[in-house]
Amino acid sequence: MDFVMNCLSVGESGNLNIGGIDVSEIAKEYGTPAYIMDEDEIRKNCRVYTGAMREYYDGKGIVLYASKALSCKYIYRVMKEEGMGIDVVSGGELYTALKAGFPPERIYFHGNNKTDDEIELALDNNVGRIVVDNVFELERLNKCAGQRGMTAQILFRIKPGIDAHTHSFVQTGQIDSKFGVALETGEAEEIIVKADSMPNINVVGVHCHIGSQIFELAPFELAAEKMMNFIGDLKDKHGIVIRELNLGGGYGIKYTESDTPIDYDKYIQAVSEVVRGISEKRNVELPFIVMEPGRSIVAEAGLTVYTVGGVKEIPGIRTYISVDGGMGDNPRYILYQSEYEAVRVRNPLDEKKITATIAGKCCESGDILVESAKLSEIKPGDLIAVLATGAYNYSMASNYNRIPRLPVVMVSGGETKLAVRRETYEDLVALDL
Ligand SMILES: *Cc1c(COP(=O)(O)O)cnc(C)c1O
Repeated sequence: MDFVMNCLSVGESGNLNIGGIDVSEIAKEYGTPAYIMDEDEIRKNCRVYTGAMREYYDGKGIVLYASKALSCKYIYRVMKEEGMGIDVVSGGELYTALKAGFPPERIYFHGNNKTDDEIELALDNNVGRIVVDNVFELERLNKCAGQRGMTAQILFRIKPGIDAHTHSFVQTGQIDSKFGVALETGEAEEIIVKADSMPNINVVGVHCHIGSQIFELAPFELAAEKMMNFIGDLKDKHGIVIRELNLGGGYGIKYTESDTPIDYDKYIQAVSEVVRGISEKRNVELPFIVMEPGRSIVAEAGLTVYTVGGVKEIPGIRTYISVDGGMGDNPRYILYQSEYEAVRVRNPLDEKKITATIAGKCCESGDILVESAKLSEIKPGDLIAVLATGAYNYSMASNYNRIPRLPVVMVSGGETKLAVRRETYEDLVALDL
């Protein structure tokens, strides 16, 4: 493949195309910097998951889009049309989804410290499930639901003792994590028994999420095994029937050529075999299966286009290419030294003769988008596209240095439309009193 993203090609003009449209034309129409996303690719990714859910679980499950990866009204409308559920982790994400007309019964509300206001917002809007993180939240939720004469339908966030990241995973007795309740220590069992006796709580299921950007099957299989055995234990020891198993997200994507993701339906197939096997062995009914991919739905469907300002050569040290965006629109390098690939928009497959660091325009030395990028020759005025920025870029954007946030342009069926308009200077002062 020529690019790390499937939806890219080189058009007749020689320019980079996304979803069949010339990136430089989009840049001309909407300005730079801008996020550009291929909506058809997003929908295709949803269908890989929903199709695999039908195939391997006979449709007895739901795929949730973990919307912290990219949250705006437009994406919630797309997810609604694709028959997906969503997970939200804050009142703000929940509000955005509701404003977009997303069906509340298909919303799962996560978060390790939901406020009373958020719990009330969720209950008052009949959100499908609340994923409870801890005993304090459980008690507050029981009370809030009681005041409304409601029963909250909940899952518990469980730490299954597996911590997976990229190329490795570790199995530990008790992972050091702020999320959830631990399996090994008996904490999870205790809280579920407690919840089971609460008047305004219905324990529907259990949930785990073991990490992000994972390229292996084994940690997912192991997590499913532990969770299914836990479901078996709850039934045998306490007669508590768990009907839903939510296995989280974390499926890896291709940011650079060295990343080696597995086809998503392979994960689902492998995990379904584990789940079915233990369901038979432990004589527990096959639970309703929930998955929560975020990154793998949107990351490879998006790029960010920038205009080059200056090219600064520091002899014997390095070359800096400065662009009109930076850590405000993509904080992932400064946060985790994340790697990206970048290409020149004009003749992107020309020989990559230079190595240069693409830097942003913020007042931070660490404001870098791609360190030591291999690029075709670049001159001021050129457009550069940083690839696979569809996840955790717009959603993590900030206004540092009072730089307006970028628009999100969607490409679909050969046309472009705005999902989010560019912030204006007027927007920037709108909250100032
Ligand atoms: C972040 C998150 C996800 C999605 O993770 P990805 O790596 O984007 O697939 C799913 N579930 C929970 C609870 C999360 O916190």
